[in-house]
Amino acid sequence: MVLTMIDLRKQAEELHDRHSDTFQIGIEEIEAQLRTLVEGYSVPLDEAIRSVVNRNIPENNNPTTSTNNSNSQIKVGDINSSGQWVDIQIKIVDLWDPTSDSIDQVGLVGDETGTIKFTKWAKSNLPKLEANENYFLKNVVTDEWNGRFSIKLNRTTIIEPLNQDIEIGDGSTTVEGVLVDLQSGSGLIKRCTMDSCTRVLLNGSCAEHGEVEGKYDLRLKGVIDDGINVFEVIFNEQTTESLTGISLAEAESMATEAVDTGVVLTKMRNMLLGKYYKIQGSKFSRYLIANEAKPLSDSLDAEAILIQARSI
Ligand SMILES: [Zn+2]
Repeated sequence: MVLTMIDLRKQAEELHDRHSDTFQIGIEEIEAQLRTLVEGYSVPLDEAIRSVVNRNIPENNNPTTSTNNSNSQIKVGDINSSGQWVDIQIKIVDLWDPTSDSIDQVGLVGDETGTIKFTKWAKSNLPKLEANENYFLKNVVTDEWNGRFSIKLNRTTIIEPLNQDIEIGDGSTTVEGVLVDLQSGSGLIKRCTMDSCTRVLLNGSCAEHGEVEGKYDLRLKGVIDDGINVFEVIFNEQTTESLTGISLAEAESMATEAVDTGVVLTKMRNMLLGKYYKIQGSKFSRYLIANEAKPLSDSLDAEAILIQARSI
């Protein structure tokens, strides 16, 4: 069943009425969030409503905090969950044009660990943030949307100017650990070539464009364990080739010969799994996008690193 626009509009109005004292977004924004979930992700309506309510009433996620002073101070690069109340020292990297009347200011803030989107609601009556200025923001809420994290300033947020210039990092990080898994969708894959789609095809079919010819690509979705944390690492064609020594052309001829693209992943699994790597890349949500990957040649060193890591 396809919901009409009117249905979602009505749902948004009802939600807005019911939560008028706590929601800091308008009917339009509520409707847009519902539409994305229902039409974009085929989320059932009641589930979508629950999700929109949770997203917009941070107190729901964490009723014990808000105005108290027990927030933890966090770095941009360490934000990895939504609904968390945190204090953060940032520099205003960029200010964008608000897309809705409910938003006073929106843009990018950052620290030495990376950058993140911020939103300041019109309803929260906070002082203006100036581009390139540094601030200590107390009582902001983390949020997540489509795998991207952001921070939201609200009525309880305290903005203090900082007398220091925060350096903005690129979020680059290095992980050393053992490759414990290669997930499906790794190896020789095909991507949609319609417009600038690039979605990975499943059985020759794109989720957006249906059956298409597609174009071969090499990719690995790996899981690295550094002894403390587990990271999901994405290797593109270049880093996959440098890791495996198998080029896209070679992978294609392997697949043609075997009449099966799966042979490429099988071979790569055999080569890579259980080995130690040093991976440098940038963090994107829960993923680490590898820019460079090197095998740790001396496995004794790797063991030592793991033992050391575990003992911290
Ligand atoms: Zn497509």
